[in-house]
Amino acid sequence: MECVDPLRTGLTVAEAQRVVLALAPQLAPETCASADALGRVLAEPVVSTRTLPPADNSAMDGYAVRCADLADTTHAAPVALRVAFEVAAGDRHERALALGEAARIFTGAAIPPGADTVVKQEDTERAGALVRIRVAPRHGENVRPAGEDVRAGELVLDSGAELGPAALGLLAALGRTVVAVRQRPRVAIVSGGDELVEPDSAVYEGRIVSSNSYTLSAQCRLAGAEPIYLGIARDTPEALEERLRAGSRADLIVTSGGVSVGDRDYVRPVLEKLGCTLVFWGVQMKPGYPIVFGRFGESGPLVFGLPGNPVSAMVTFEQFVRPVLRKMAGYSAWFRPVVRATLADDFEKTAGRMHFVRVSLEPKSDAPGEFVARSTGNQSSGVLRSMALAHGLLILPAAQTRLRAGERGEVQVLDEGFFAAREPGF
Ligand code: AMP
Ligand code: MG
Repeated sequence: MECVDPLRTGLTVAEAQRVVLALAPQLAPETCASADALGRVLAEPVVSTRTLPPADNSAMDGYAVRCADLADTTHAAPVALRVAFEVAAGDRHERALALGEAARIFTGAAIPPGADTVVKQEDTERAGALVRIRVAPRHGENVRPAGEDVRAGELVLDSGAELGPAALGLLAALGRTVVAVRQRPRVAIVSGGDELVEPDSAVYEGRIVSSNSYTLSAQCRLAGAEPIYLGIARDTPEALEERLRAGSRADLIVTSGGVSVGDRDYVRPVLEKLGCTLVFWGVQMKPGYPIVFGRFGESGPLVFGLPGNPVSAMVTFEQFVRPVLRKMAGYSAWFRPVVRATLADDFEKTAGRMHFVRVSLEPKSDAPGEFVARSTGNQSSGVLRSMALAHGLLILPAAQTRLRAGERGEVQVLDEGFFAAREPGF
């Protein structure tokens, strides 16, 4: 007989994170034009078939010389070399440099055979077909050697690397216009509630705009995923079933609302009816206790039923959905950064649940690299404005009952904008 694990309930945040990440698969690779691959995760090791730069070349405008020809040069008695020919960037070699000769050369031009050193223009004096050089150069000075960047056969970027501007430039330099990257998770988003309307509808008598559709879609994008908004489901099992079926071909389903213990909270029963295995319900956190997590079979999408309150939905997304999306998309770091900050306010709570408090962060003027965390206002789970003002979430651990102003705490950073500077700072 098939053994079905019972639904777990009342997990700690850490337990719930472990459970969801253990079930999150890494998505398959797909090919992508390198030009469109910014922020994607490489799904193949890139081994160079080229040497960069391909030839020794000049780092300066000046004269390519044989270093040995200039061993005895001094300010008082400068050696004069005959300027035999000129090489510009992109030119092919005309011929090798002979004894006693110099070649006029420009930045990026290949060093002609026979030459080993470049004397920069500022250290020379041109007199017709001759150039006088007053300072003896070091051997190899101002020459950028072939392969100083990359050698053919070298591993340049490893599978799992996140592609930033420099990596994209490197791929281009290697002639890689197409690369294998991890697929981006496609996330079906369903908002459930009889009171919900779209933002362009009239809002009257208890109707509210489904802001979660917007916050959750934006959070998906920031996590490197592609949201697919499936609209609002009314509070009936049939309406919910229809939307969830529509989402079943996505990589992941996120619903909000209807997951608590009210008479019209149909998310759990409908998921079960559709064959979803529910893994847990309820996490010891505030905001966001009522969250359900399940999976459709071995290869079907994972499902997160998030609570409807706007801040609960966002905070639970950050703790559970985001790390899962990052893992699926192939990133090696799945979690938001955490900084320690000195608290500007007192915080109190009862023991039992981990609290996530919306705070702003500002640099401490007297201590570079340190921060002050300040509450952004009303912490009700329906107040989106204090979330919009927050740079992060102050963590009040489950067992803790108070943290006082002046003490230090951990802040999970959601918005790195507080790092941005109005002055260069150096
Ligand atoms: P529920 O989780 O369905 O009990 O909803 C809890 C609260 O969140 C209620 O006040 C809902 O009106 C609100 N809510 C539910 N869904 C959304 C949504 N998509 N956008 C904004 N608020 C919502
Ligand atoms: Mg509801």
